[in-house]
Amino acid sequence: MSCEGVREMAIARDAAQIAEQPVADDVVLRAEHLQKKLKMGEVSVHALRDVTLTVKRGEFLGIVGPSGSGKSTLLGLIGGLDSPTSGKIYIDGVDITHMNESRLTEIRNEKIGFVFQFFNLIPTLTALENVALPGQFAQKRRTNPQRRAKELLGMLGLGDRLHHRPSQLSGGQQQRVAIARALVNEPPLLLCDEPTGNLDSEASNMVMKMLRQIQQTTQTTILIVTHNIEVASQMDRLITLVDGQIATDVDPRSSAQQAAVSLLKDKRATNEFMVL
Ligand code: ADP
Ligand code: MG
Repeated sequence: MSCEGVREMAIARDAAQIAEQPVADDVVLRAEHLQKKLKMGEVSVHALRDVTLTVKRGEFLGIVGPSGSGKSTLLGLIGGLDSPTSGKIYIDGVDITHMNESRLTEIRNEKIGFVFQFFNLIPTLTALENVALPGQFAQKRRTNPQRRAKELLGMLGLGDRLHHRPSQLSGGQQQRVAIARALVNEPPLLLCDEPTGNLDSEASNMVMKMLRQIQQTTQTTILIVTHNIEVASQMDRLITLVDGQIATDVDPRSSAQQAAVSLLKDKRATNEFMVL
């Protein structure tokens, strides 16, 4: 066999081995070569270009980047709300890339919690009812949803607000109810899109403190998309997206990175996060 032939066989064997490799147990999220093309009228937008990412159990990860860089698109793909043009996504070892809608709904319910900028609580239900609601749709019920909802609201400092409706709660309190709701089925992964975007700095600090506490006590992997530099600088790992690609992937508390963050803090006129 020619030299070229041997080389090709070796490449094919390596590729087969890589393809067959199971995702390691401690990996909660694995995204491989994600591409997302979107059509806007006649124009095609390349929202994500070749994003590859591994996130382990218990990570506290931030995603920043300029507006339009693909942050929400990436979060939507990871959460199974949309599917990629190409590439693969594994959640807790399960390949969700080409899953049918009913199985995907199960995975979302079991393995992923969502928190959005606008809390999206049901106005006619109490805090406790809002939190317990996703528990009713869970296939595998671990704990009684009512009991778990009460525990979570207590953990989030809302033990005395169980029977209040959203309109009777402050923005920060409503967001904590939304966090409890996202956690009621004990998902391994919590996805937050601008969770402090609609809060003042005091409420924002409280929400961040609670998210950190949840990550430390339950080992939930928490992924936060943010524009807020105070939030970003608290993460253990910070990914910057630029033009649909990962530009940096760092620990923002390392000394060099801290210097860059404090420089940005000095220069910022607003609380908007610019490119690191
Ligand atoms: P970010 O959350 O970082 O602001 P997005 O993920 O929302 O960015 O958007 C990435 C790119 O994809 C942008 O250029 C945006 O205009 C485009 N885009 C987002 N959603 C859609 C859509 N539904 N249809 C067409 N283009 C979209
Ligand atoms: Mg966005």
